[in-house]
Amino acid sequence: LSDRLESAFKKFKGQGRLDESNIQEGLREVRLALLEADVNFKVVKDFTERIRERCLGQEVLGSLTPGQQVIKIVNEEMVGLLGGETQDVDLRGKPAVVMMVGLQGSGKTTSAAKLALHFRRLRKMKPYLVPADVYRPAAIDQLQTLGRQLDVPVFASDTSMDPVEICRKGIEAAREEGCNVVLLDTAGRLHIDETLMDELANIKAACAPGEILFVADAMIGQEAVTVAEAFNEKLDISGVVLTKMDGDARGGAALSIKSVTGKPIKFVGMGEKVNDLEVFHPDRAASRILGMGDILTLIEKAQTTMDQEEAEAIGKKFQRAEFDFEDFRTQMRRLKKLGSLEGILKLLPGMKGLKEKLGNLSVPDKEMGRIDAIISSMTMEERRNPAIINASRKERIARGSGVSVNDVNQLVKNFEQMRKMMKRMMGGGTKGKTPRMPR
Ligand code: GDP
Ligand code: MG
Repeated sequence: LSDRLESAFKKFKGQGRLDESNIQEGLREVRLALLEADVNFKVVKDFTERIRERCLGQEVLGSLTPGQQVIKIVNEEMVGLLGGETQDVDLRGKPAVVMMVGLQGSGKTTSAAKLALHFRRLRKMKPYLVPADVYRPAAIDQLQTLGRQLDVPVFASDTSMDPVEICRKGIEAAREEGCNVVLLDTAGRLHIDETLMDELANIKAACAPGEILFVADAMIGQEAVTVAEAFNEKLDISGVVLTKMDGDARGGAALSIKSVTGKPIKFVGMGEKVNDLEVFHPDRAASRILGMGDILTLIEKAQTTMDQEEAEAIGKKFQRAEFDFEDFRTQMRRLKKLGSLEGILKLLPGMKGLKEKLGNLSVPDKEMGRIDAIISSMTMEERRNPAIINASRKERIARGSGVSVNDVNQLVKNFEQMRKMMKRMMGGGTKGKTPRMPR
């Protein structure tokens, strides 16, 4: 999707002047890109129509850089489509109750465990897990294993109990243990099924969860949106967890779910491990889709493994564009420890291009290794001050690290681009560690 959109944007940028016909042409590309990504037809139609109207208005045609202006509008509309502001979870209950619902295999159990970890780490809460899927014995074991792994207490359900009873007693037990957030992991079916829906409605009535999170598998595309609608109708869900976004999902579900169901995506699953959960930020997701990379998420990830002081020092470096290759390598090595490398690479602007350039490196570890090797072949002076890397130095670095000069060029170029963008995003008077995207 990003590639297609990027080529559409080139069209806009290439135009000195924009008029109705070249706007129309550029938007046609945007529309095709979205349809190809499996975005709901009606959503695409409304989306491009809104952009067209805004583009034909004063704000674009009267501006000095109409192409940029169009891209800004597309970005704004995309953020709106994805839900606008980041949506928080309702954790007011005592204990707060979060009910996970969705089809079988969508990722409910995995996401329940990921959320338990998330609440404990980022909100300093005491989570409690309740397995309420009594139809598959292995489902209870699965959650118990995850609970042990995370050191989170799990209610001792057994398959002879009634799911509504399990949830009610589970919440009671959580309260007794002094836990303040309970995750109810409910059963799923392969298809929407009335008996199950009734059971879920009964659990809802008995437990009054503050959050009912519909867990959707992004890989099933449009279908996820249809299923979300059905669950929403019956249960009035409060949000969506979109899982398996690390796979080759085309992104259509993410873009359609909010406008079709009216319910926001709150979290995304980015892998099978318990760490692979991210809070969904519409503005960041939009820039990721539009091919700008997602530096802020990367920084947040890094922050979870470094101490506050170190994080602030790096933040300042970003701001002053002093972030250099040495810092980059340090961060990269650190991130390597965090889990899915592929996920991290996707967050870096321009890295996709590098990946294609480097050819058949299907193992991302290898790719990190290559970048690491290139940086390691630089002198400390070059790492600190990439501007001095001229043609002959590039040749030496390439030879030293066993790559082509082109690869070195690409890395230096991508790095410069990234640095500029970081400066732009971190600068402009934002302080603290959660700067906002420019509007
Ligand atoms: P449930 O039936 O809804 O409880 O689904 P599970 O939590 O058991 O997950 C089904 C499968 O999907 C498991 O193999 C999980 O490891 C996998 N899974 C869940 N979330 C993600 C994700 O975000 N990314 C990937 N790649 N796999 C996931
Ligand atoms: Mg399950």
